[in-house]
Amino acid sequence: MPMHDNLNPQAESHLHGPLFKNALETLEEAAKLINCDPNILERLRRPRRSITVSVPVRMDDQSVKVFTGYRVQYNSTLGPYKGGIRYHQNVDLTEVVGLAALMTFKNSVLGLPLGGAKGGVCVDPTKLSRTEKQNLTRRYASEISSFIGPTKDIPAPDVGTDPQTMAWFMDTYSQEQGGYAQPGVVTGKPVEIGGSLGRNHATGLGVIYVCERAMEMIGMKMSGSRIVIQGFGNVGSFAAKFAFERGARIIAVSDVSGGIHNGDGLNIPQLIEYVKQNKTIKGFPHSQPVSNEQLLELDCDALLPCALEGQIDTHNAENIKCKLIVEGANGPVTNAATKILHKRKIFIAPDVIANGGGVIVSYFEWVQDIMSFFWDEADVDSKLKGIILKAFDTSYKLQQEKNIDMRSAAMAVSVQRLEKAMLLRGLYPR
Ligand code: GLU
Repeated sequence: MPMHDNLNPQAESHLHGPLFKNALETLEEAAKLINCDPNILERLRRPRRSITVSVPVRMDDQSVKVFTGYRVQYNSTLGPYKGGIRYHQNVDLTEVVGLAALMTFKNSVLGLPLGGAKGGVCVDPTKLSRTEKQNLTRRYASEISSFIGPTKDIPAPDVGTDPQTMAWFMDTYSQEQGGYAQPGVVTGKPVEIGGSLGRNHATGLGVIYVCERAMEMIGMKMSGSRIVIQGFGNVGSFAAKFAFERGARIIAVSDVSGGIHNGDGLNIPQLIEYVKQNKTIKGFPHSQPVSNEQLLELDCDALLPCALEGQIDTHNAENIKCKLIVEGANGPVTNAATKILHKRKIFIAPDVIANGGGVIVSYFEWVQDIMSFFWDEADVDSKLKGIILKAFDTSYKLQQEKNIDMRSAAMAVSVQRLEKAMLLRGLYPR
C-alpha cells in the first residue's frame, strides 16, 4: 500500500502498529468498492494530530512516577472529535492511532455528527490506588486540556476507565476554565453531574440489539441460543445480562484471570453479584475453568469478543466453531481472519457497528448536556436501538448486494459518508 515516498520511516513508526494496519487494509478495500476519490483516500490514511504527553504522578509512597499519555485526533470532518480514553499497560501511540481511526469509521457509519479520536495512558490501572488514579487522571486531563472541549474533542471511558474517571476529568477541565462547570467536555459521566441515563449499559445493550438482528438475518433466535462471551468488564457483563434476560444460555465467559464454562448456562445475575464481591469470575460455583484459547474455540451459536483487539487471527480462525461473531471490543478479529471466517460462512457483526452503543449514547449525553434537558432511560434505549439497527440494516443490504463480508460493507458505508463530507468541505487552503 503506498503510504508516502521520501519520508524518514522512523518518523512514521507510529503508523505501523497491527491494529492500524488492519484498519488501513479495510479502508483500502472499502475505498475500492465505492471508487473513492484518491485524494480523499490519501487524507484518510493518516491521523490529523497525534499528541504525546508526560504525566507525572505523586504516588502514595510520595515518590513521583512519570507515565506516558496520548490523544490522537484522527478526523474532524463530520463534527468534534470523539472517542474514549484507555488505561492499560499495553497502550502505545500505534495502538491509539489504530483506535482513533476505528472511532472515525464508527462514528461515520453510525451517522453521528462526530469526528474520531482516542486517548490512552500506558499504565496498569489495577496497580494504582484510588488517589493515584485520580492524580494521574487530573494531570493527564490538564496536559491535553487545550486540545479538548465541548466543541473540540470530547473524551469518554474505554478499557480501564469508568464514570468516576470521567468525573475527575470533567472537574479538572472545569477548574482550569475558571471553575465554571463544563459537563459537555466528556461523556460517560455519573448521572449526578450531567451523565445520561442508559450510558453505562449502552455498549452491552447495543451489542445485544445487533446480535438479535444478526441472528434474525441468519435464521437463528436469541432465546435458547448458546453464547460465549470473552471479557466481563463494562461491555461483556452487560451483554451477558441482556442476553440472559432474553433467554439465551451464556455457556462461558472470561476475564483477565481466565474463563469459566457451564454447558447448561451460567447464572448471570449471580455471577454479576459474585464479581462485585470477589473482583473476578474465578472460582464461580457450578462452573469449570477454561483457558482463553479454549473459550474462543468452544462450540456455540454466537461468540461475543468483548475484551481487547487481535484475539482472533490467522492462528485460530480455522478453529472457531460459532455461527456468528458480534464484536463488542474494538478490533478483536483481524482483517485476514475476517476473510477466513467469511469463507467458512461465519457471520461477523463488525465492531464499528456492534459496539457503537457506547458512542451513540455518548452523543445523546453530549446533546443533553448542551440542552441541559435530560431524557428518561426508556427513551435513551429506544433511540439507541433505532440508530444502531439502521447502521446494521444499511450495511447488511450492501453486504447482500455485493456478496462481501459485513466489515467491508460497513466500512464502505462509512468511507462513502466521509468522502462526501470531505469533498463538500474541500481542502484548506485549497
Ligand atoms: N470507548 C468507546 C468506544 O470505543 C466509547 C467512545 C465514546 O463514547 O466516545 O466506542
